Amino acid sequence: MVLDGKYLEIKKAIKKVLDKERYQHTLGVAYTAASLAMKYGEDIDRAFIAGILHDCAKNIPVDERVTKCEKWGIKMTDVERKNTSLLHAKMGAYLAKEQYGITDPGILSAVAYHTTGRAAMTLLEMIIYVADYIEPNRDRAPNLKEIRRTAFEDIDRAVFLIARDTIEYVSHKDSADIDPASMAVYEYYKNTF
Ligand code: FE
Ligand code: FE
Repeated sequence: MVLDGKYLEIKKAIKKVLDKERYQHTLGVAYTAASLAMKYGEDIDRAFIAGILHDCAKNIPVDERVTKCEKWGIKMTDVERKNTSLLHAKMGAYLAKEQYGITDPGILSAVAYHTTGRAAMTLLEMIIYVADYIEPNRDRAPNLKEIRRTAFEDIDRAVFLIARDTIEYVSHKDSADIDPASMAVYEYYKNTF
């Protein structure tokens, strides 16, 4: 069961490091991920704990991230150096392993790719990517109703819709900031239909 022993300790530790709102979001992602795991036959515990850990580096101040990544030996792309909010995903995967003792590479990669996604994601990666976007506390994204429904009908399509809307949103802010990783997700999943 997911909240036995080690996992319960991790959940308690995460509650301590995140602010209230971020922790509520984290629980929303964990339970949504568990539900998607039920639907698609992924391991529920893996989905839940990946959800609990996905934002575990979010509390690290933005201006300390590049220095910390260098110290921890995390390779950064130019886009990540410029847009340090993206870095919490890779840093989260690092902490999940080094600080929270997670060794399952599938859980670690689900944390690492939760923000941008990537082409040809594993089921668990897709579950966390989608759960992060649709969990019940989210209310700002366009097309949420459709994406929530689609998530439980066809998860590949939900990934496509999220990548599409993410690119759309970023391009309104500053088209130079479109992460090539999001673009790759969009191109890959567009071709799966
Ligand atoms: Fe995140
Ligand atoms: Fe998140």
